Amino acid sequence: MSTDIRFEAIVQELKAHGHRLTPQRMAIVKLLASATDHPSAAHLYERIRQQFPTTSLATVYKTLNILKDLELVHEMGFSEDDNRYDAAGSLAHAHLICTQCRKIVDAEVEPVSHLAESIAKRSGYRLVSQRVEFYGLCPECQSVA
Ligand SMILES: [Zn+2]
Ligand SMILES: [Zn+2]
Repeated sequence: MSTDIRFEAIVQELKAHGHRLTPQRMAIVKLLASATDHPSAAHLYERIRQQFPTTSLATVYKTLNILKDLELVHEMGFSEDDNRYDAAGSLAHAHLICTQCRKIVDAEVEPVSHLAESIAKRSGYRLVSQRVEFYGLCPECQSVA
């Protein structure tokens, strides 16, 4: 999905649910819709401050929580690292996580829904969610090592 279409879709949903669209909030949504690196709240805070220096971290968290409640962003929690956010939409996809620089990118593989379907069929489980992650060293980190 293109960044603009995703951005518009999120803005429409926020409006439909009666949320105020402040310039800061719009900018955070835009950053999320265009990010391909699954930013943390701290990353977003750093980026938003370049446009709106007075934005607080609380504003970033508040916006993320609204988006999360509306299921417009997906939150990935890690025990030893900050939560990361994915606004790519509802389509489940696999992630590649670099253990060194903590970069997270979407893995270009067959849709996770295919995998989920066959797991559900074989196990009899009614699946409600899934999380597919691959860990390793990204090409950049390999070239440094
Ligand atoms: Zn890396
Ligand atoms: Zn993703």
